[in-house]
Amino acid sequence: MKKIGKVLLACVAIYLLLIISVPSVIDKIKNPTVLKPPYKVLDSAQKIYNSLPFIADMHCDALLWSRDLLDRKDYGHVDIPRMLEANVSIQAFTIVTKSPKGQNFSANTGDSDNITTLMIAQGQSVKSWSSLTERALIQAKNLHKFEKKSKGKFRVIKSKSDLKKYLVDAELYSNITAGFLGVEGAHALDGKLENIAVLFDAGVRMMSPTHFFDNKLGGSAHGVSKAGLTDFGKKVIEEMQSKDMIVDVAHASPKVIDAILEMTTKPIVSSHTGVKGTCDNVRNLSDKHIKGIAHSGGLISIAMFKQAVCDTDVKATAIAIKYVIDLVGSDFVALGSDFDGSVNASVDITGLPLIVEELLKLEVSEIDIQKVMGNNVKRLLLETLPE
Ligand SMILES: [Zn+2]
Repeated sequence: MKKIGKVLLACVAIYLLLIISVPSVIDKIKNPTVLKPPYKVLDSAQKIYNSLPFIADMHCDALLWSRDLLDRKDYGHVDIPRMLEANVSIQAFTIVTKSPKGQNFSANTGDSDNITTLMIAQGQSVKSWSSLTERALIQAKNLHKFEKKSKGKFRVIKSKSDLKKYLVDAELYSNITAGFLGVEGAHALDGKLENIAVLFDAGVRMMSPTHFFDNKLGGSAHGVSKAGLTDFGKKVIEEMQSKDMIVDVAHASPKVIDAILEMTTKPIVSSHTGVKGTCDNVRNLSDKHIKGIAHSGGLISIAMFKQAVCDTDVKATAIAIKYVIDLVGSDFVALGSDFDGSVNASVDITGLPLIVEELLKLEVSEIDIQKVMGNNVKRLLLETLPE
């Protein structure tokens, strides 16, 4: 009996050790940065960056890694101290709940999953080992915990009135920042329409129908079927829009994007994407879809990693931004870095001034730079968030 007790104790000790050490090791491996901070920026670009009225990014997966976002890290891409240093007004914190093994851009099934192991390694609740809704709720709760612990420095925006109050307060106190919650892939609903309300009540204000594999809503750009929107998918989009949840078409199959553009009654976004016009691959938007999203009044948010913009530097992101401006004007393009999304990002969040530097080189006007760097996101949120 004594021996069994010792073995059990050793197992518990090993599990606790794993919970403490493994998540940050995985985090470091999964979220490297091409160019390390601190960044050298031309004075002219830094001056314009410092004068930007609103700085926003439409996508980061920082919540997945059980990192203390109030603690400044020298790995990963986003935390609240670095957001404050970069003067970021709002960051979308998007929740990932399932990621297939051997994840690739061409064809994945939903049969396997990496996040289950991550949940166990992080010591999350047993319910989260099987329920994707539970995983989303854990991450949503964590963002609110950071809000509480931040002593007013960070707040979670859930409504137009939250945003308006934040805009007033940001004028008075320079040292505050904010985030809002999104979900990557509506498999996070565990197949239940009523879970939209559950996620909404947890603060989620944006969701994409699919992520890396086909699900009950329809096809992923990286799935097997490349199918369109199912009847269930249509019901989800309708329900989301009736609750003023933003529909995000990132990772959706072209047919799903077609169907959403046809039925949408609200502006839709692609929260992190590239464009086929500068980087032709399966994850990126065609000119037709860019025009469709712009027509809806939404946003094409350009990412900051190689698979989205076909190069490893911020210049490639700036070139994709300029492409969208030339195609549909400057009102419908934004940043959607995909920071901490298991990508090798060109820079971390403190490198955003380098985007301004590259946009200036491409002769994008100061007014258009203000729109791209955040004003368009502010406009969209003020239009689409619930009252
Ligand atoms: Zn993604």
